[in-house]
Amino acid sequence: MIHKIEHIGIAVKDLDQAEKLYAALLGKSPYKRETVESEGVITSFFQVGETKIELLAATSPESAIARFIEKKGEGIHHIAYATDDIQKEMQRLEEAGFAFIYPEPKPGADNKWVNFIHPKSAGGVLVELCQDRKDE
Ligand code: ZN
Repeated sequence: MIHKIEHIGIAVKDLDQAEKLYAALLGKSPYKRETVESEGVITSFFQVGETKIELLAATSPESAIARFIEKKGEGIHHIAYATDDIQKEMQRLEEAGFAFIYPEPKPGADNKWVNFIHPKSAGGVLVELCQDRKDE
């Protein structure tokens, strides 16, 4: 089951500058920065009630975030939904015709298992599914 919007991912060019903007907007500081080497991104998280804002900046020009910004500019990159059982949700969604980017969930930022539904099968929106990692 999907039970909430876990976070909204926003692609940014300059993480320091974007952190300042969001700190001013939300009236608080980010609670962590984390690099996800396998995705070529550095992330910064702001807690907003039960959900979060995830700022994403590229660590290299080949990063998916760099390519996204090149094509579409800065802005909303993905919506992440929380589930308690990502394997089960993947199965349900694949049976419903959604195409996932990775065959299996992988470790993501903020201590999560993650996978993504391709925007082509989700009305133009990159959808992330995530589940808390309880093994750490
Ligand atoms: Zn995310």
